[in-house]
Amino acid sequence: MALKGKTALVTGSTSGIGLGIARALAAEGADIAMNGFGDPAQIEALRAGIAAEFGVRAVYVAGDLGVPAQIAAMVRAAEGALGGVDILVNNAGIQFVAPIEGFPDEQWDKVIAVNLSGVFHGMKAAIPGMRARGWGRIINIASAHGLVASAQKVAYVAAKHGVVGMTKVAAIELAGSGATCNAICPGWVLTPLVQQQLQARAAETGQAIEAVKEAMVAEKQPLREFSTPEQIGAAAVFLCSEGARTITGTSLSVDGGWVAQ
Ligand code: NAD
Repeated sequence: MALKGKTALVTGSTSGIGLGIARALAAEGADIAMNGFGDPAQIEALRAGIAAEFGVRAVYVAGDLGVPAQIAAMVRAAEGALGGVDILVNNAGIQFVAPIEGFPDEQWDKVIAVNLSGVFHGMKAAIPGMRARGWGRIINIASAHGLVASAQKVAYVAAKHGVVGMTKVAAIELAGSGATCNAICPGWVLTPLVQQQLQARAAETGQAIEAVKEAMVAEKQPLREFSTPEQIGAAAVFLCSEGARTITGTSLSVDGGWVAQ
């Protein structure tokens, strides 16, 4: 229970990687503020489940990460409910796949707003509290696409490279404050975000989902294995630990060897 007495806000934690991270931090005793879209009854079941399973406080704070004023309000709500935000995990993210010349302007704006600007506004709102308490952990969920590119993902790749850069700026600015800032760069994790891409590729190529799944992971990852939300959660727990006290401004790849090539 290394994180007992700490509070964590995880954006986009109603699904996938964010939910895995929220559960992993709660398992270490952290009180949790969840955020993200979804069916209110399902979100309430997830929230109550985390509180009951791990014996921590768990609250839900609304906020669209594409809307700066809502991000500041979300951080204030989490601080109000839990007494502060010691750990901020900027995880909420979206994807859109198309070649540059056919990439819709509104999708560019949307992906940049949520995946890039959302991280900036989240850090801006949460940093003063971390400085005041003399301790903080910011974990930005970037991607292998924060380090290398793939075709058809121009907005996502631009945003994630930006997140890796922003992480370094925050680390330098926060030096000496007791707060660190790092990025996690996952490769393929089988979540609803990736499921959509699998289905689109299967429809496009006429292949079975299982075949597309195998090909997708083999194309990028020597390990030929998807990572799990639990494994990304374990990486987040490590970055919050005392052992990671002097790790700041870095990107931790959890990607089955994707960017080693
Ligand atoms: P997901 O679709 O399962 O979950 C995304 C979460 O973000 C959901 O809770 C959703 O409600 C929330 N969200 C989306 N838009 C939002 C908004 N405007 N405001 C608030 N919440 C919003 O996706 P995931 O795969 O778990 O992705 C989580 C993060 O991990 C993203 O930043 C993604 O880019 C990154 N990532 C995912 C993979 C992967 O293979 N799945 C790989 C690398 C990086």
